[in-house]
Amino acid sequence: MLKMHALPPLFVLACIFFLWLTTPLQAQDWLKAAPQSHIVEQQINNYLPSTPTRSLLSSQQNIAIIMDDLGYRLSDAKALLALAFPVTFAVIPHTPFATEVASQAHQAGRTVILHQPMETSNPKYHDINQVGLLYQGMTREHFVQVLEANIASVPYVSGLNNHMGSLLTSLDEPMQWVMEVSKKHQLYFVDSRTTHKTVAIAHAQREGVVWAERKVFLDASRDIMSIKKAWQKALRYAKKGQQCIVIAHPYPETLAFLKSQVSHRDIASLRNFLHVESQYADAKSY
Ligand SMILES: [Zn+2]
Repeated sequence: MLKMHALPPLFVLACIFFLWLTTPLQAQDWLKAAPQSHIVEQQINNYLPSTPTRSLLSSQQNIAIIMDDLGYRLSDAKALLALAFPVTFAVIPHTPFATEVASQAHQAGRTVILHQPMETSNPKYHDINQVGLLYQGMTREHFVQVLEANIASVPYVSGLNNHMGSLLTSLDEPMQWVMEVSKKHQLYFVDSRTTHKTVAIAHAQREGVVWAERKVFLDASRDIMSIKKAWQKALRYAKKGQQCIVIAHPYPETLAFLKSQVSHRDIASLRNFLHVESQYADAKSY
């Protein structure tokens, strides 16, 4: 039992404790030593590569998936649109279902880009007769004409990436022409990086074209173990707070993997990565 004379000091102590609890956190000096989240984010940002993409550290959504080689089958579009997360549709021009696939993707709110065929240095894939192909030795006029026609042939494109292109992306002049046309149409360029000799990004930067580059090929080998390993690599980038562009192909193995193994919590849309509208708006204001 408390005696009556002990109550006033207890009441004073209770008041002091209450005041301490309700003091704003920033006024408590000892808490100031604790790192504040925006400072930590800034420090981490300092270590990120200087790309036009921006960090999404507050979110897990650090991976964007581009599905290449679309336009040959409507079933690909159906499978991709059934996924619980957005995938960017990279459509090859002049393929049988290019227009329909691009339209379906756009109507479902997905991003569409032109998957521009470019000359490869690998004779196994070399097909000079592919419609819409850009290759070494074209005149500037012919080159621009073909690229313009390709852009016009696929509706709703907001950017482009290269299909093949291990030869062409290593050449200065054609890459300069690609960027000039991209700039004119305010398209962004994603370098698929089919060769380490690529000069595409250097020309994009010179022209002020919004750009990004592929970090991981999901299905360079189609077996499920290789696909899983590639996905783990992408997740490692994401967990370090680095944005990671993954390129995939509409193989049955890949589609099954995306459906069953990939969480929507890890996936962002490519356009969210690039902030395309604001970057081109910035460029225009200068
Ligand atoms: Zn391709």
